[in-house]
Amino acid sequence: TSAQIGVTGLAVMGRNLARNFARNGYTVALHNRTASRTHDLVKEFGQEGDFIATETAEEFVAALERPRRLMIMVKAGDPTDAVIKEFAPLLEPGDMIIDGGNAHFADTRRRERELREQGIHFVGTGISGGEEGALHGPSIMPGGSKESYASLGPMLEKISAKAKDGAPCVTHVGPDGAGHFVKMVHNGIEYADMQLIGEAYQLLRDVAGYSPAQIADIFRTWNTGRLDSYLIEITAEVLSHVDAATGKPFVDVVVDQAEQKGTGRWTVQIALDLGVPVSGIAEAVFARSLSGHAALRAASRHLAGPRPAPLSGTEAAAFADRVEQALYASKIVSYTQGFHEIAAGGEEYGWDIDQGAVSAIWRAGCIIRAAFLDRIRAAYDARPDLPSLLSDETFAREIAAAQDDWREVLATAVRQGVPTPGFAAALSYYDGLRAPRLPAALTQGQRDFFGAHTYRRVDREGAFHTLWGGDRSEVSA
Ligand code: NDP
Repeated sequence: TSAQIGVTGLAVMGRNLARNFARNGYTVALHNRTASRTHDLVKEFGQEGDFIATETAEEFVAALERPRRLMIMVKAGDPTDAVIKEFAPLLEPGDMIIDGGNAHFADTRRRERELREQGIHFVGTGISGGEEGALHGPSIMPGGSKESYASLGPMLEKISAKAKDGAPCVTHVGPDGAGHFVKMVHNGIEYADMQLIGEAYQLLRDVAGYSPAQIADIFRTWNTGRLDSYLIEITAEVLSHVDAATGKPFVDVVVDQAEQKGTGRWTVQIALDLGVPVSGIAEAVFARSLSGHAALRAASRHLAGPRPAPLSGTEAAAFADRVEQALYASKIVSYTQGFHEIAAGGEEYGWDIDQGAVSAIWRAGCIIRAAFLDRIRAAYDARPDLPSLLSDETFAREIAAAQDDWREVLATAVRQGVPTPGFAAALSYYDGLRAPRLPAALTQGQRDFFGAHTYRRVDREGAFHTLWGGDRSEVSA
């Protein structure tokens, strides 16, 4: 017998994906640089399905039915290139290499181009859902050729998460690096979501005076409404957890320095290159880096701030409702920015990404899964050419209803000295888009003054320059 799919790289992700394929009835060839991992998997989970354990690259490739589907789940970066280099010479035209690691989409574009010359389909695939998702159904974002999706898609659909309406959380995102690009933006949005939740928590704690356990209950209530999502759900779990050693709230015994692996940073770097204002995601990445500067924070602790003004019980309850509004409005803005980046990336690289389909496959399996994504999908389905999520009537109406509370929460945060970079960036973006006139006109004037960079006029076509050093008359540039 031969295997319909092979997985090489059997650490947490690869091992669980391999089991997921096997549990869904596929015969799975297994390979890992260190062969003991392969044998451990078979020993522990062999009864779950049909596995073919292999030790050498040749054995692994020989175990696969043609066209071969070879999935790589190794550490992203150089290890992925090393593994491709090892296997590509053993493959034949029409075979597929699926990279399910967290690759940078630019690497995926390069690998796809190189392997295409050899007739091999390289399918850079974003996979979200962590260890549990890999086993029980992740959200899957494959790029690569249409042909490869025709062969691979049905298998991915089977192992993927299913949305409430039963739809599999996988779609052919677009050619070459499109899948990894969308996965990157997914992670950027995840950073922003987490930052906004963190700000809501800190406001409820420092301004409203609630305990972590009380805040957990507030998040549980929010989770029954429009904020219903995995991240809100696990926030309540983390906040209600009590440290066994000290009896203190768990959140109070964890060092407050957030780490990151890099996909959020990539989202911002690429957004800068594309000229897309993803200010909420950027603030989330910067907030993590600020938290990590321990010495700088220690040296700044004495800096002056406002006097604390705790709220009364009834004021606190009303404030919590306002924070929900601020969180929801800011969340709409984060997704607006993320989808803008996907649209801009799609245009830059010629991917033609269906934004509605992307929001649909994020409804289950992945870290940002949320009821909210169903509504984003509805917005794009109703108007595929939607210039921005904020142009959707429903979202615009919701923000209109939330804005007074949103502004009030930020005013309180500023008055009381609670850092809210995510909420603030979101509101500034919203107000920036709304503004009939921006100080960009003044910026253009300054640029023309010091660098003769020219400007356009509101009343005439063309580029102009003012002779700032001379008689200040205007010339056509
Ligand atoms: P790791 O990223 O920890 O990678 C470990 C695996 O890579 C092992 O199988 C290891 O083999 C193999 N490996 C490392 N270097 C080489 C090399 N030079 N040649 C051959 N094999 C090598 O594993 P994870 O399971 O955590 O993640 C796999 C991929 O999935 C990564 O790209 C990750 O970013 C991505 N991912 C991870 C998620 C998660 O929640 N962990 C979620 C979504 C994606 P050996 O056993 O021999 O050391």
